[in-house]
This record gives sequence, structure tokens and C-alpha cells, in this order.
Amino acid sequence: MPSEDIDAIREAVAKLCTDFDENYWLSLEPDRDYPTEFVNALTEAGYLAALIPEAYGGAGLGVVEAGAILEEISRSGGHPGACHAQMYVMGAVLRHGSDAQKSKYLPAIASGELRLQSFGVTEPSTGTDTTSLKTTARRDGDDFVINGQKVWISRVQHSDLMVMLARTTPKDQCQKKSEGLSVFIVDLREAIGHGLSVRPIDAMINHHACELFFDDLRVPAENLLGDLDQGFKVILDGMNAERILIGAECIGDGRYFIDKAVQYANDRVVFGRPIGANQGVQFPIARCYADIEAAALMVYHAAGLFDAGKACGTQANMAKHLAAEASWAAGDMCMQTYGGFAFSKEFHIERKFRETRLYRTAPISTNLILSHIATHELGLPRSF
Ligand SMILES: Cc1cc2nc3c(=O)[nH]c(=O)nc-3n(C[C@H](O)[C@H](O)[C@H](O)COP(=O)(O)OP(=O)(O)OC[C@H]3O[C@@H](n4cnc5c(N)ncnc54)[C@H](O)[C@@H]3O)c2cc1C
Repeated sequence: MPSEDIDAIREAVAKLCTDFDENYWLSLEPDRDYPTEFVNALTEAGYLAALIPEAYGGAGLGVVEAGAILEEISRSGGHPGACHAQMYVMGAVLRHGSDAQKSKYLPAIASGELRLQSFGVTEPSTGTDTTSLKTTARRDGDDFVINGQKVWISRVQHSDLMVMLARTTPKDQCQKKSEGLSVFIVDLREAIGHGLSVRPIDAMINHHACELFFDDLRVPAENLLGDLDQGFKVILDGMNAERILIGAECIGDGRYFIDKAVQYANDRVVFGRPIGANQGVQFPIARCYADIEAAALMVYHAAGLFDAGKACGTQANMAKHLAAEASWAAGDMCMQTYGGFAFSKEFHIERKFRETRLYRTAPISTNLILSHIATHELGLPRSF
């Protein structure tokens, strides 16, 4: 991959994506296939190791550059949701891993030998209320024994490793509700079929999300990531990067929809003139353009703060929120601009429209972001 010059990175990613055009992504839809060739190409070019330090074989770049990579994939019509987690899940190993864990995993992830694509937090009965999660990990000799259930865990069948959160001390024995949770690195190659069963979810988008059932899964104690009972902090630590990177994807989606709408509005002739000559068609496109460009400024601002090591919790939340809302609005505008043809799969808009909708809900929903801004930034009382 090219050096830190962000324009060169954008150009190179856009070029790589020309080998994986919209028809490639469409071809995966009927059987919900995984874009293996695309992910391999991205890995071989070093992009998924963008945030891994050079000392471990990565590119040693920042969230600014990583965001540009994801944005360009989205803008090309691709779906970075197939592999984006590797960029931010790896951060938990980098920041909280022991020297032995870092040397064992990071070079292998950087080279593509190991895929760390899965992040297991959400549970069916507790949802966003993460500190109430019910999956437990109990120490037994040299192992932890994990029991419980997770839902909506993406890419489990296309990953070698998963970073997951489980309760190690009952909540009522902890001083704070955020204590008593721990993070584990699960080697999925060993776990599936030996204490971990996986059931794919038939979902609205091709995101390879699964239900997970843990039934006495044994994980070596050396796979504990960070301190025992302090796992909530490990998870929280990675969330700013995740939100900024998802925001960048949304910017790419938004620009994709605007590019498509402009092109179609210029080409499609109804009543003897291009539909884009009607202000009723062009104003929604212009409005979405303004909203996406404004959201992009927040994404780039938050990424800059993150890379400078500055506090950016509120900015990361606002970036993800504004970008997700703007990309969703741009998707709706694009659907409207295309008229009936928007509903035909061969025009690709409907797939991107479904994909970008996810980001108003995951990895964190709109209400929870607004709640963060209200309570952390504006000093309003907490409701939970
Ligand atoms: C395709 C897909 C892929 C996913 N991948 C992963 C993954 O890889 N790993 C993982 O761990 N999770 C994953 N998730 C889960 C995702 O992070 C959650 O679905 C999301 O955070 C919302 O949680 P929930 O579904 O439990 O909603 P709930 O917590 O049940 O909330 C439902 C609604 O109520 C609102 N709400 C809840 N409490 C409040 C409150 N106090 N105030 C105001 N509003 C509230 C929420 O905002 C939401 O709109 C994925 C989800 C999807 C759909």
C-alpha cells in the first residue's frame, strides 16, 4: 500500500475496488456468500493491517487513513462490513494485550495468516444494556469455562479469532456495574464444535451475523485480554475508533448515493428533459450533498483527535450519528431519484440502501448516542 499520503491511499483503494465492482457484490447476494476474494486482496495489499504498528508487520497508520480506506470501499459500491472489524477489534489486543499475546497474534493478523473479524458482545436478553450480559466465564484450573449465548455476532464463520466479553464475577458482588466483566480471545478454529455452536441469522443484509451458543467452552486462561473483571474498559476503549470508522463508511455510502443520483438525474429523460432539470429532483440531491459533506467534516475531525491521542468520545459519537443519518437520507433520496428502477437489484441502489441502514442501529443505536451526548457533554441527568 502507498505511504501516508491520504490521496494516494484513496486512489489505490479505489483502483483495487475496480476489480470488485457492483456486480461482484450483487453476485454474493442470493446465497449470502462471503467476499473472500475481495478480503484476500485487501489483506494482501496491507489495508486491513493499516492500524497495526510497523513493529508487528502492519502499516502503522492512523484512524484518518483507515477511515479513508473504508470510505473508498463504500464509495465504490462495495461493503466494508465484510471485514471492517479487523481494523478496530485488533486495537483491543494492541492496547490491552500482554507482550506474549501481541507477539503471538498481531504479526499473524498483519500478514493475513490469522483473521480477527469477530467481536462478541451483544446478547439476546440484555441488548444494549451490556453490563447486564449473562454469559459467564468461570475459572477452572488453567482454563476459563464459558457458558451463555450471544446474538448478531458478525463474520464468526469467516474469522479465526473472536474477542468476546463475559461475566467473571456476579454483578451483585461488584462495586460498580461495569466491573466483573472480562475479555477473552477465542480461537474459533478450536472452539466451534467443541463447546461453541454457531447458527447463522437470515438477515436483511449480507453481514454474516450469527447466534452463538456457549456450552462449557474451555478457553485457556492465557487468552484473558487485559485485567480480570476490568473487561468493560477494554471494550469501551475501542469504541471511539469503531464509531469513527463506521462514520467513514457512511460517508462513502453517502457519496456513492449522490454520485449515482447525479448520474441518473442527468441521464434519465421524462417529459422531454432530464429529470435532474426539475428542482424537485435536484434539491434533495443538493441537500444530501451538503449534509454528507458536513458529516464528513465531523468524521475527519474526530479521526484527527483520535490520532492525536486527544479525548474524542463525544466527537466520535457525533461523527457516527451524523454520518449514519446523512447516508440513510442520501440512500432514500437515491431510491426516489431512480423511481421504479431503484427497486430492481440490477441497479444496486437497494442493496446499498439496506446496508447503510444498519448504521443507525449498530454498532450502537441512535438513542444511545444521543444519550451519550446529553449526559456526557451537556450535563443532563442519566436515565440508566
Ligand atoms: C447486522 C448486524 C450485525 C451486528 N454485529 C454485531 C457484532 O459483530 N457484535 C456484537 O456484539 N453485536 C453486533 N450487532 C448487535 C448490535 O450492536 C445491536 O443490535 C445494537 O447495539 C442494538 O442493540 P439491541 O439490538 O439489543 O437493541 P435493544 O438494546 O433491545 O434496543 C432496542 C431499541 O430500543 C432503544 N433503547 C434501548 N434502551 C434505551 C434507553 N434507555 N433509552 C432510549 N432508547 C433505548 C435502542 O436505541 C433501540 O433502538 C449487530 C447487529 C446487526 C443487526
